[in-house]
Amino acid sequence: MKTNRFMEMALDEARAAGERGEVPIGAVVVLDGAVVARAGNRTRELNDVTAHAEVAAIRMACDVLGQERLVGADLYVSLEPCTMCAAAISFARIRRLYYGAEDPKGGAVDNGVRFYAQPTCHHAPEVYSGLNETESAGILRTFFAEKRELP
Ligand SMILES: [Zn+2]
Repeated sequence: MKTNRFMEMALDEARAAGERGEVPIGAVVVLDGAVVARAGNRTRELNDVTAHAEVAAIRMACDVLGQERLVGADLYVSLEPCTMCAAAISFARIRRLYYGAEDPKGGAVDNGVRFYAQPTCHHAPEVYSGLNETESAGILRTFFAEKRELP
């Protein structure tokens, strides 16, 4: 199994999001081998449907670096990004996208609209999938299984 220390940090963020009652997805932005930002889903906490882990991490990284784009930065996220996040990753000029588990239902990279393969996409990151895949999928599965058990 492919594992990676930055992906492990993204999984820590995913678990922390789950503990806050959010869908457990986490993301980390890395530039020149250093973590610039790490975030989990915050949609419930902020009442903000755009507060997915990837968008939150990109916002934080741009804020920390004081710049609009993240040229040369890499993003690690536990689950295949959705259409909104795939677009945000493109707009931020992320160099490499690493994701854990595929998301056949909501993903937009290797599933769904395959955002980066569209002629309207002007910057596509290099994509690496399947990092810590089993663990990533397991965190989500456990979260939704526990939710179903609630009264
Ligand atoms: Zn998203």
